[in-house]
Amino acid sequence: METIAVPRLLDRLGLSAVNSGAATGRWIETYGAELVSVNPATGEPIASVRTANEADYERVVQEAVSAFETWRMLPAPGRGEIVRQMGEELRAHKEPLGQLVSLEMGKILTEGLGEVQEMIDVCDFAVGLSRQLYGLTMHSERPFHRMYEQWHPLGVVGIVTAFNFPVAVWSWNAAIAAVCGDTMIWKPSHKTPLTAVAVQHICHRVMERNGLTGVFNLCMGEHGVAERMVADRRIPLISATGSTRMGKRVGQVVAERFGRSLLELGGNNAIVVMDDADLDLAVRAVLFGAVGTAGQRCTSTRRLILQRGIAEAFVDRLKSAYAHVRIGDPLEAPTLMGPLVDEDAITSMMDALARARAEGAEVLCGGKRVDRPGYFVEPTLVRVRAGMQVPLEETFAPVLWIYEVDSLKEAMELHNGVPQGLSSSIFTRNLQTAERFLSAAGSDCGIANVNIGTSGAEIGGAFGGEKETGGGRESGSDSWKLYMRRQTNTLNWGTDLPLAQGVKFDV
Ligand code: NAD
Repeated sequence: METIAVPRLLDRLGLSAVNSGAATGRWIETYGAELVSVNPATGEPIASVRTANEADYERVVQEAVSAFETWRMLPAPGRGEIVRQMGEELRAHKEPLGQLVSLEMGKILTEGLGEVQEMIDVCDFAVGLSRQLYGLTMHSERPFHRMYEQWHPLGVVGIVTAFNFPVAVWSWNAAIAAVCGDTMIWKPSHKTPLTAVAVQHICHRVMERNGLTGVFNLCMGEHGVAERMVADRRIPLISATGSTRMGKRVGQVVAERFGRSLLELGGNNAIVVMDDADLDLAVRAVLFGAVGTAGQRCTSTRRLILQRGIAEAFVDRLKSAYAHVRIGDPLEAPTLMGPLVDEDAITSMMDALARARAEGAEVLCGGKRVDRPGYFVEPTLVRVRAGMQVPLEETFAPVLWIYEVDSLKEAMELHNGVPQGLSSSIFTRNLQTAERFLSAAGSDCGIANVNIGTSGAEIGGAFGGEKETGGGRESGSDSWKLYMRRQTNTLNWGTDLPLAQGVKFDV
């Protein structure tokens, strides 16, 4: 593959002309600190952006609040038309945007392009949704009364995103919130500012064509900007994606002001492989789940629970597959695993491995930093036992903790015995085992799969998880309801005023 010329790539996305970290429909000159974006495959800077300070933030919020007044009154299918145009712009820029995602975040190119495809898909979904924001009608108990519910736009939505899906998670929120009639302010991860600027550029093109401003807004910064949003009463919904530590804080602050929060936090996802499983499928799924995106997906497979009959053979096959994983530049075609995002990520992985060893865990392969510039590590398999503490935490790296069990019951106890509850899967050919895993007594996660790995969700389903994963749901199904306020309406078209429950109150 031809080496990607970074200045040309930035130019194609209109980035070379921008050094601002706030926008409302046009770029606002910002006065915060400089934020340097680093290429994790080399450790070298790509470009820098100036962040938004308090005054810049205030200008953005005011524009978002003011734009809501008009945006909410545009009929939903009209809002859908704007989102359709966004999808078209994203289609036109899929290749350079996908390359930028890979360059800045470090995921391999096919995944970078996949992330942009996810944005396109969710725009398409939202366009259809714009004609399907259905409310129910109810039969009133009172004569000549009509009762129904309708869904109204909520207001300004604050969207806080993590580094690992620098643009897709924004689109899950933004496309849906936009058709729901909300305006929004995006605080992207400070580790991936350039992709955010590129997406905002794309929004601007569409907004300008339609004579709009203030619908899709950007406010760049470190945690401080997000903290301001979280405490801001003008923002009724905060949708925050990131670590459990962050979610705990956001949840508390938003609840204190009676705001609404949608939390998408860490996972500790497991695959159970039973003796009767199709092992070819299972090996491929575990490999993609644990090694894909260098283990930096919220849905990455972090724990593998093997039934004893196949355990040894399965681990041998995995070890051999791991030995063939090509580690390297994420923009080069044969690479399967790119770098971790930064030096801190390597430190966290090494720290987790050291603590696990101290608990008696056995590293079966990998476990080391790769000797080259950038933040590369080896994909790692570790044999562990029930009762160890480290595998109960989310280690955001390609580390797979492997357990052996005798029965499904034992597997489920281990499976559900972690604080997080995002994604889960089982490999089996037995219908009863599969249904048990999916039953109310089975997986306690928001996502549960059979003969498919834990990562790589489609946008059509509601995405999110339970327990410390935060309970939020985004993207497909009826997740849109979180972005709207429900109103119950009763209309009396008679000439009398009967009271509900037969209450009499006449003078
Ligand atoms: P992070 O928590 O460090 O940061 C995420 C975002 O939150 C950033 O924009 C950051 O600036 C902001 N933030 C941090 N502290 C904050 C605070 N106190 N108040 C307000 N905002 C704050 O996470 P990260 O390292 O960027 O991403 C990795 C984590 O995200 C992992 O735990 C992963 O599982 C999780 N994640 C979850 C999902 C999901 O859908 N469940 C998706 C992607 C990532």
